[in-house]
Amino acid sequence: MVTSRITGVLALQGGYARHIDVLRKLGAEAREVRTRQDLADCDSLIIPGGESTVFTKFLTNADGTPNDLHSDLRSFALTRPVMGTCAGLILLSENCDDNRVAPLGVLPVTVARNGWGRQTESFIEKLDLNPEAGFKKNTAPFEAVFIRAPRILSIGPEVRILASVSGRNEASEPVMVAWKNILGLTFHPELSVDDARIHEWFLSGF
Ligand code: GLN
Repeated sequence: MVTSRITGVLALQGGYARHIDVLRKLGAEAREVRTRQDLADCDSLIIPGGESTVFTKFLTNADGTPNDLHSDLRSFALTRPVMGTCAGLILLSENCDDNRVAPLGVLPVTVARNGWGRQTESFIEKLDLNPEAGFKKNTAPFEAVFIRAPRILSIGPEVRILASVSGRNEASEPVMVAWKNILGLTFHPELSVDDARIHEWFLSGF
């Protein structure tokens, strides 16, 4: 029996629709995830950008403790391929500088929300995708869209850096990292029209 692989996109709020478009254009089966049952049907998951404080409202009980969906997302991310973009990365992180966010705590990085500044400081930057990660050498850079993006302040010892930018002090800092089955991006790959390399790479098991 052939079982189709289903990629879920967390659809509680934020930019999930564009991710679904990109996945379907690539021929993948994509599904909106709003409940524990939706998640149980998926083989991999994308957590989109949005507002990490708002995601937290959907993932906690009235007393602020993590709810059942939070705990299922955490278990899922410990074993199956997950890509978090922007607010999705914040949700995956082990540490976030804002205690209004209840991250899943599965990706060994520390992040600062809105680390580049306000909406007006949003930007587009050309990224070289690290060939050591399996990206083809000498291909065009990836035009990455950063919207009130988080900054990755530190990473755990086994976290791989897949792409970096020059920070304010010109020192290079990671904007795309991988650890085990988890991929975290501070930008929005679904907004780079006609360049689906990152989704393709995620679907191929990266
Ligand atoms: N600034 C948002 C947050 O803190 C993330 C922005 C985004 O996902 N584009 O959650």
